[in-house]
Amino acid sequence: MTVWLLGDQLNPNAAPLQHHDHVLMIEAHGFAERMPYHPQKLTLVFSAMRHLRDDLRADGYDVTYLEAESFGDGLDRYFEARPGDSLVLQRPASHGAGDRLREMVEERGGDCTLVANDGFLTTPADWEAWVASRGESAAGGDGTSDGGTYRQEHWYRHVRRETGILLDDEGDPVGGEWNYDDENRETPPGDWSPPPVPEFEPDAITREVHEFVVDRYDQRWGSADLADFRWPVTREEALQALEQFVAVRLPEFGPYQDAMVEGEWALDHSLLSPAINLGLLHPREVVDAAVDAYRAGREDGAAGDSPAIPLNSVEGFVRQVVGWREFMRHVYRESMPGMDETNQLGQTEPLPEAYWTGETDMTCLSEAVGHVREHGYAHHIERLMVLSNFALIYGVDPGELNRWFHLGFVDAFHWVTTPNVVGMGSFATDALSSKPYASSANYVNRMSDYCSSCPYHHTKTTGEGSCPFNALYWDFLKENEGTLRGTGRMGLMYSHVDDKNDEEWAAIEERAAEIREMGKEGTL
Ligand code: FAD
Repeated sequence: MTVWLLGDQLNPNAAPLQHHDHVLMIEAHGFAERMPYHPQKLTLVFSAMRHLRDDLRADGYDVTYLEAESFGDGLDRYFEARPGDSLVLQRPASHGAGDRLREMVEERGGDCTLVANDGFLTTPADWEAWVASRGESAAGGDGTSDGGTYRQEHWYRHVRRETGILLDDEGDPVGGEWNYDDENRETPPGDWSPPPVPEFEPDAITREVHEFVVDRYDQRWGSADLADFRWPVTREEALQALEQFVAVRLPEFGPYQDAMVEGEWALDHSLLSPAINLGLLHPREVVDAAVDAYRAGREDGAAGDSPAIPLNSVEGFVRQVVGWREFMRHVYRESMPGMDETNQLGQTEPLPEAYWTGETDMTCLSEAVGHVREHGYAHHIERLMVLSNFALIYGVDPGELNRWFHLGFVDAFHWVTTPNVVGMGSFATDALSSKPYASSANYVNRMSDYCSSCPYHHTKTTGEGSCPFNALYWDFLKENEGTLRGTGRMGLMYSHVDDKNDEEWAAIEERAAEIREMGKEGTL
């Protein structure tokens, strides 16, 4: 039996590797041409694959590593050399991929057994047991922040109960609360500077891959400058990144997790999603590292020092990984096929030019797009409340936005980008939330310092110089009234809609149309 490892299954401790010592890896170059991926994404994946190849060989595995145009070409060559071989493959997270790959193997005379994907903390059976145990109330309304068909908050508590993560000896949540989000909406003071971001010197393999990527893929989007490349490519580097995050950035992660600061791309975020999604880190070990450091800090505290990591920071981080990441994976599984094509609001606008060029006077958009171009990364609030919020109220086709996120981000894979962009950001389905993540300039102004340097006025809704977020926001509510008025917690917003007179609406419509025109012309 041979373990076939895909490019996002790079966990050297994955279960199948414990039982078999022959490994197949295929670096499929044509596959990477499906979209003009960010060069850092391609460099990251191919470099991490080659590093794992070498590490496994050093550990005594017999690794067949094929550079091929496609998986089909790679499998042709593989089965010529090892006719009739049996492969074992962790079921890929992206919908349909497992069955497609198994068929390709069978067409070449081999067989392929799909086994559990080792990159997650929970299993499909865990999810099904939760859904069955909650029945109707999986979607119920207890006033916690999310909604829609499935409730992340319920799922998150369930997983913590089942796993014992951050529970006390009585089985209650540490500190008495499940959720400390109320303490996690601060913005840093003006003289604050963020902790350092770990840097990993590209080695010979990364440099070689990078040269190949720059040479081979000409439809490139985003910085191909290796100096901008910050991502761990080995398990060892990923462990260093985890350690650095826990020691240096986790303490402030909670309070500043929703903040945005001009000129700062990382703040206190972990930057671990690429390593977790590639399998270099297991989500459970990431959570354990954070919780262990929190507990160690408390023990020191009992001896007289103050706790190193506040509970709201560690809980906020655990929620992201145990709650959101696992939740998105299962909602995607449940919602595919179909989720990637849904568009309940019927939005059809193309992406504003600024998403491609990064050229715009809007400080928030220019910062967020700039971070993606430079690093293939923007943190969660930039993704949700700038990049997808703006696209949502502008009317962008969710499929087009999904594609943009997918090709632009180093941590993007269909299973995780789709529910986040189509479900959460675009409100193209109500599976994840009962109301859209749509807001005017108020949110960006409250959570960032962007508006102070922006030539647009965040307090103006219409007329020259008014912030594009404002007219688009009201226009969006009006346009989608049929779907949104009765939904979730939109009552307050629609009471403001009702307060506006005809003259105000005429000015809003005129400004929104003007902004969409500017978006197309690239003059936003
Ligand atoms: P941190 O803020 O440090 O959070 C810790 C970890 O929690 C992350 O590394 C990630 O593993 C997990 N996490 C948190 N929120 C989510 C979430 N909603 N879904 C999945 N995992 C989550 N995440 C991706 O991994 N790939 C994507 O392509 C992606 N696209 C997104 C698109 C949109 C529109 C939005 C709103 C969110 C998207 N996310 C995506 C989720 C989240 O924004 C990123 O996981 C996070 O910003 C990664 O940065 P970080 O590692 O510094 O995260």
